[in-house]
Amino acid sequence: MSNRWAVRAGRAFDGEKFLAGGATVVVEGDRIIGVEPAAHALPDDVRVTEVAGTLLPGLVDCHVHLVATGAFPGAPGSLEWAGTADVAALDEVITENLRSQAVAGVTTVRDLGDVGFRVLAHRDRQGEGLPRVLAAGPPVTTPGGHCHFLGGGIDPADPPSQERAVADRSDRGVDVVKVMASGGFLTPGSDQLGAQFESAVLRRLVDAAHAAGLRVVAHTHSITGAEVALDAGIDGLEHFTCLAEGGAPAPPELLERVAAAGVTVDPTLGNDPSRFPPVSQMPPHILEMLDRIGISDRDAHFEQMARNSLRLREHGIRVVSGLDAGAMPAKLHGHLWRSVAELVRGGWPVGEALATATSVAADDCGVDSGRLAAGRLADLLVVDGDVASDVEALGRPSAVWVGGVPVAG
Ligand SMILES: [Zn+2]
Repeated sequence: MSNRWAVRAGRAFDGEKFLAGGATVVVEGDRIIGVEPAAHALPDDVRVTEVAGTLLPGLVDCHVHLVATGAFPGAPGSLEWAGTADVAALDEVITENLRSQAVAGVTTVRDLGDVGFRVLAHRDRQGEGLPRVLAAGPPVTTPGGHCHFLGGGIDPADPPSQERAVADRSDRGVDVVKVMASGGFLTPGSDQLGAQFESAVLRRLVDAAHAAGLRVVAHTHSITGAEVALDAGIDGLEHFTCLAEGGAPAPPELLERVAAAGVTVDPTLGNDPSRFPPVSQMPPHILEMLDRIGISDRDAHFEQMARNSLRLREHGIRVVSGLDAGAMPAKLHGHLWRSVAELVRGGWPVGEALATATSVAADDCGVDSGRLAAGRLADLLVVDGDVASDVEALGRPSAVWVGGVPVAG
């Protein structure tokens, strides 16, 4: 008996494009060994699973917080809770979140905000049928700065502490370094419209990380934060919300700079609207920020973000999708499909939007998945419906495999 098996679907997306007439994907061990037309005849000893719906590569969520669950009730926020939680509680939450991601068809997650490097332990013992994990450890921030409660604060006036922060992460084996270039919505007292570090400080961090073979991604909501991060030679921009006094349209000259520098942008789009609080219930520091940028309405803000996302595409910027899962109630683990759907709502062609969460994301993360192609990891997803005409079908998974291992629904 052959140990090869195959999954056959009448509709398929290979990570870059839809395959007319679907596909038969042949798997051996943890790898795809062939991608054939749907009608392709296979030897009798190859077990074939016929599926309805659309077959795709498993999704890659480039921005998650496994220590936090968006389902966590009330204040303090989930990430703040994680900063105070013990190891057993963190491990429980991390495992539960990985499970939510896997059943949703997210077969790789990049964690960009950890506590005590707990996520690294889960990465190293990847559970059967759970997603692959890439981990940054605690984000580097200023004392009292954005997400300081995750434990990644460094002294901006003390260069050795900055180099130590990178060396510590490198010694522990992180996959990427995350730095908070601006304040954030989740941290009262941090300035979402400003910059947390001077570019010389960020440059020291980036140089040290590059010397250790690590890429650096920067959280930034502000234009100023993005400029400082670009000055410092950053590799990726998270959120890239482009907030400034008076508005949040992405300035053309900034977009040109990002494109010329070859910097990846992860706009962290997508929210569950039923779990997003109305403006009237938002905390005072967020209302104050909305007032400064001149936006009083949450939907107007989301529309601006969608318009910005289309400008990224128009400027030829490499875009990857990450939900920021766990950061808040409207961003549940496993809901990466909402980021992709939001790009489509903003005007992106469906295939290109899907690529931001499959082939482009996998390449950017350095993971050998994200494509239906011989030699790639057999991370596969089947969803109920025709994704080409209904992108929300991406949120209706019916079968998932990680490295050829089925994920039990
Ligand atoms: Zn985040």
